[in-house]
This record gives sequence, structure tokens and C-alpha cells, in this order.
Amino acid sequence: MALIVQKFGGTSIATPEKIKAVAERVLRRQKQGNQMVVVLSAMAGETNRFIDMARQIQESPDEREMDVLLASGEQVTIALFAMAVKAAGYDAVSLLGDQVKIITDGMHTKARIKSIDITAIVNNLRKNKVVVVAGFQGVTEDDDLTTLGRGGSDTTAVALAAVLRADKCEIFTDVEGVYTTDPGVYAAARKIDRITYDEMLELSSLGAKVLDIRAVGLAKRYNVPLHVRSTFTENEGTWVVEENKNMESVLVSGLTYSKNEARITISKVHDIPGIAAKIFTPISEAGIIVDMIIQNTRAGEMTDMTFTVPRLDYQKSLNIIKNLEIAGAGHVSGSDSIAKISIVGVGMRNHTGIATTVFRVLAEEGINIQMISTSEIKVSCVIDEKYTELAIRSLHDVFALGDDNPPTIE
Ligand code: ASP
Ligand code: MG
Repeated sequence: MALIVQKFGGTSIATPEKIKAVAERVLRRQKQGNQMVVVLSAMAGETNRFIDMARQIQESPDEREMDVLLASGEQVTIALFAMAVKAAGYDAVSLLGDQVKIITDGMHTKARIKSIDITAIVNNLRKNKVVVVAGFQGVTEDDDLTTLGRGGSDTTAVALAAVLRADKCEIFTDVEGVYTTDPGVYAAARKIDRITYDEMLELSSLGAKVLDIRAVGLAKRYNVPLHVRSTFTENEGTWVVEENKNMESVLVSGLTYSKNEARITISKVHDIPGIAAKIFTPISEAGIIVDMIIQNTRAGEMTDMTFTVPRLDYQKSLNIIKNLEIAGAGHVSGSDSIAKISIVGVGMRNHTGIATTVFRVLAEEGINIQMISTSEIKVSCVIDEKYTELAIRSLHDVFALGDDNPPTIE
């Protein structure tokens, strides 16, 4: 007998009809002899609707009350889901975050889970019930309701799978799994069968939206096998798992892009100690998160400093920089129409030439690279936003990501 945690996103349970269909799907698995824990999001669009209403009342809504409001969406779906199971002649119990005792810190609207008590869940599973847990919510030690931040239901599911030592955690969504790139940008994109935690972490942080990055981090830490798959088909999706030898032979696993950043360049700053601190301290004090930074060394002379910030913070960052007294500082320029294209693969750890292939392909397409950054398993290039689709298609082709059996090494 296996213990399976299944999480269903908002589009999977958007109507009573869909909730009934999902309940039947869960019951089929239970009838095969498995213990089922189901984690649900709110119905699609609900959380946004709540945020909208709150903003009509308070410009920046009180965070404690916001959590009370937002958590209500999941209360609706777990109750309806438990009813659907009972209507089908089986037993279920819905549990809110505080009923399970998902204890979090007190950071309202972005709380972190501190501990989970498994007693209530285990007792109900023993009684043969489908246990239906509200995603995205928890409670502080002082009984204040909290939420885990947008997309937090994935995190609830993985955390439950970890503490329950579940055999697997399945994340059901409206796509077939994780793709080699966004199928909306390039139709040749292929569903990935297996990907490592590290690759998935990079893809999530670099723009892929299918899985919440905190959930992937938790899954890696507790070694929870994650299966991302579609609610609307029976097909296998993508397994996110620990790395094994075979996986290293795949050079590149995925290709992603983000249009959420902007670039700022300060030309001719003095290349002296303290200059970076001077530039980046006020930026970070304003709560702005800097991603890439490029500075070259020309001791004693002038240098250029280029960095990226979230696009929403572009104007604010420009204003901060323009008001700084930087010795000899020249011209401040920038662009908020850039895209960051990234290729990810654990095979890069042991194989050279991938970055050069990326540079060559972009050059052949006449695309100028504005910035480059690399890690052990990724290469990112900042380019003009208007070339995003062209870059994605060319790189996807050169690494043969659309092939059923992409070339491996050795
Ligand atoms: N309902 C929450 C949201 O929309 C949590 C989730 O769906 O994961 O962000
Ligand atoms: Mg979600």
C-alpha cells in the first residue's frame, strides 16, 4: 500500500463538475489500495478576485486580514471536494491548515512552514478516509491565520509528502508536465520525462512557471519524488527526482526565458574600492533585488558597471542611481525591453562547449548579447526582448531538444 499526496491547482477544480471528476480520479487510486491525501488550491481566479476586492477597500491591504481573506478560497474547495467523495459513496474529511496544525512563522502573506503535526491526517487515513487539506495556509503559534505566498499550495503538498514520508507527491495542473521550452513560444517543445531537482530549481527561478520554486527546494531537501502531470489526461507527466548517472548524459534539459527584468549601465565609474558598495547599498535598502552584475577590472581607471533589476523597479532604480554622487560617474543608461534567455542542464557540469554553442547560434542570428552569466548547470544571456522567440527557436533546434531521443554524450 502506498501513501500518495496529490495536489490539484485552480484550473483543475474550477467548477463543481471538475471537482466531481477529480474526486473520481482520486477514488480510483484509493480503490487500487493507496492511502490518499489531497491538497487543493482555490478555484481558478478566486485568489485574484479577493485581492482585487481588498484593494478597493484599502490601498495596501492589512496583511493579517489579507491572509484571513485569501485563505477562504481553499476552504471552499476542500469542503466541496469532501462532499464530492461522499456523494460517490466514500468517506473523506476536509482539514484547514490550523486543523492539521501546519505551524508557520508570523510573516503574513509569505509565511514559512515551521512544523506539521501528522496526527490528524494519519488518524483519518486509518479510518479509510480521503484526507483533503487546504493548500497555501497555515497558522502561527498564536493561532493567527497565515498564507504561504502566491502559488503556495505546491509547497503545502510537498511539505505534507515530506512529513508523511509519502511514496510520491503528484502535482496536477493544466499542462502535461515540464516542457523543454514554453510550447506557446515554440511548438517543437517536448515534454521532459525526468529532470533533476537542481535543473528544476534553475528553470523555476529563471522563468518556468509550472512549479513553485519553494516546493522544488523542499522536495530536493527531503528527497520527495515529484510528478507534475495533467488533470485532464492519464498520461505520465514529468518526474522531478534526484540526479542519477544517466541524467548527466543529457547535455541540455530545458530552455527558458524571462521578460521581467531591466538593465542599467553606469559608464565610467572610478575603479576603486568601495564603488560597488556605494552603488548597490541604496538599491538594496530600497528593497530592490539585483540579479546579474557585470563589472570589469581596470585598476585605477574608469570602468562600466551593468546590472539588472526587476522591470517593475526600473524607474525607481534609475532615480536612485541618478541621485548618487559617484566619483567621476559618467552616463547612466538602461533598457526595460530586455529578455534573459537561459539554458539549463546537469550535463554542463562535466562538458565544455555549451556556452560557446549558445554564443555562436545567437551570433549567427545577428542577436547581440548584452550580458552573460553562468552557473554550474546554466548559461543565461540578456538580449533585446524583440529577439526572444528567434533565440528560443534557434537554441532549441541546435540542442535538438524537440527530438524524442536528444543526443547524449558518451
Ligand atoms: N490560491 C493560491 C494562489 O492563487 C495558492 C495556490 O494556488 O497555490 O496563489
Ligand atoms: Mg498554482
